[in-house]
Amino acid sequence: MNGADALRRLPAVDALLGEAQARALCAQYGRNATLAALRDSLQQTRNELRAGDGPEPTRKSLLERAAAQLARRFLPGLRPVINASGVILHTNLGRAPLAPAAIQTMAEVGGRYSTLEYDLERGARGSRLKHCEDVLCELTGAEAALVVNNNAAALVLLLATLAQGREVIISRGQLIEIGGGFRVPEVMAGAGARLVEVGTTNRTRRSDYERAIGPDTALLMRAHASNFRMSGFTAEVPLDELAQLARERGLLLVDDLGSGALLDTEAFGLLHEPTVMESLAAGADLVAFSGDKLAGGPQAGIIVGRAEPLAALKRHPLARALRADKLCLAGLSATLDLWLRGQALTQIPIWRMIAREAQELRGVAEAWSQRLGGEVLAGESAVGGGSLPGATLPTWTLALDVAQPDALLAQLRAAQPPVIARIAGGRVLLDPRTVLPDEEEDLLASLEKALRS
Ligand SMILES: *Cc1c(COP(=O)(O)O)cnc(C)c1O
Repeated sequence: MNGADALRRLPAVDALLGEAQARALCAQYGRNATLAALRDSLQQTRNELRAGDGPEPTRKSLLERAAAQLARRFLPGLRPVINASGVILHTNLGRAPLAPAAIQTMAEVGGRYSTLEYDLERGARGSRLKHCEDVLCELTGAEAALVVNNNAAALVLLLATLAQGREVIISRGQLIEIGGGFRVPEVMAGAGARLVEVGTTNRTRRSDYERAIGPDTALLMRAHASNFRMSGFTAEVPLDELAQLARERGLLLVDDLGSGALLDTEAFGLLHEPTVMESLAAGADLVAFSGDKLAGGPQAGIIVGRAEPLAALKRHPLARALRADKLCLAGLSATLDLWLRGQALTQIPIWRMIAREAQELRGVAEAWSQRLGGEVLAGESAVGGGSLPGATLPTWTLALDVAQPDALLAQLRAAQPPVIARIAGGRVLLDPRTVLPDEEEDLLASLEKALRS
C-alpha cells in the first residue's frame, strides 16, 4: 500500500459526520464529543500511515475507532464490579450491596416527588426524621433514633452537641484508627471535645474511669475496636459497669458500635459481635453505628437511644449539615423493614453471603473449575468492614495457577464488568461467597477470555 495515497484518500471529518453511525454517536454522546473523537481517530490513523503501519483505513474502521474511544470516555468512573475477593463488607468496593426492596424504594422515591418532608394527614410540612425513626425504635427497643450521613458524622454530631469544650473519657485500648485515616481521637478533637485517655493499651479498669471523672466531664465513651483485636493480658470494663458508673456520676454513656450487628453473629460460627440491642440493654444512653456495615443498608450513621439527648442532637445546627438525603432514608427504611419482618437473612445480600454454607460454595467452585480448570481449595472469607476483627467464614475457592498472577488480576480488572480477585500462595483465588448469582456468567466469561489470551 502506498502511504501517501492512503493519506490523501482519508475522508474529511465532515464526510464522516454524515455517516449513519456518526449520527448515532452524536445522538448518544453529543455532537462535540463525537466530533472530537472523529478528529482523534483521523489523527491517529494519519500518524500510523506516516509511520508506515497498519492496513488501509476504511470509513468503517475510522468510525469504529471513534466509537471505541467514546465508549471508553463515557464509561462511568463509579460503576459495578464483581467482587470475587471473599471480603463481604469490602470498604473499597462500596461495603454492602443493597437488597432489592431497598433499590426499588430508592428508585421510586428518587424518580418522583415524595413525602420526604410532607405530612399527608395535615397537608403541611412534615419531618424527614420520622421515616426511619419508628422502625429503628421498634427494631432496637430505643426511645428515639436519628439518621445522619454516616457513622463518622454521627460521632461528630454527638460530641459537638453533648461534649463541646468538655471532657470525654475513653480507654486507651479504644483509641483506634479504622482505616481511611479515620481516627477516633481526631474525630473527638475535631468536634471540640477534650479527650481524656484512661488505662493502658491492654488494660483499663473501672477505677481508671473513676479517677478521671471531674467537673468538666461530659460523657464516657466506648468505641468498638473495629478492625483491631487484642488478645492475651487484657481487660476492659464491661458496658453495664460503665453505664452504672455514668449514672452514679450524672454522665452520659455513648457507645460507638461501628458495624452495628442486629442479630447474633455466633449463629453463623462467627465471633460474638455486640448487638445494638445489647448495648442499649446494658445501659448505653446513645449507640452509634453505620447503615452500610452489618445492617446491610445504604451509607448512613444511625444513633439510637434515650429521647432527651437525641432531642438535643436533632436541634443542633450541625444536624442540618450532616443530615441523610432522601435516597438514603428511602433505602434505609426499606432495609430496616426487612429486619423487622424477619427477612434479613433471605433478602439482605451481605447476610445471604454470610449465611451461605461452605458445602454449597464448594459446589459453585467445582462448577467453575469444570469450565476454567484450576483447583478447588478450602479457604476463608472475611466479613470485613471493621466488623468482627479477625473473624472469617470457611469457604471454597477456585485457585488458578498461572505464569503471571498479577497480570491476570490486571486483565480481570480491565474486564467488563471488572472482576476483583486476589492472590495467595502465588495463585489467583476466586471466592464464590461474594459473587452475586446473576454475576456468575459474566465472571466466567471474563475469566475464560483472560485465560485464553
Ligand atoms: C466504621 C466505623 C466508624 C465510621 O463509620 P462510617 O459509617 O464509615 O462513617 C466509626 N467507628 C467505628 C468503631 C467503626 O467501625
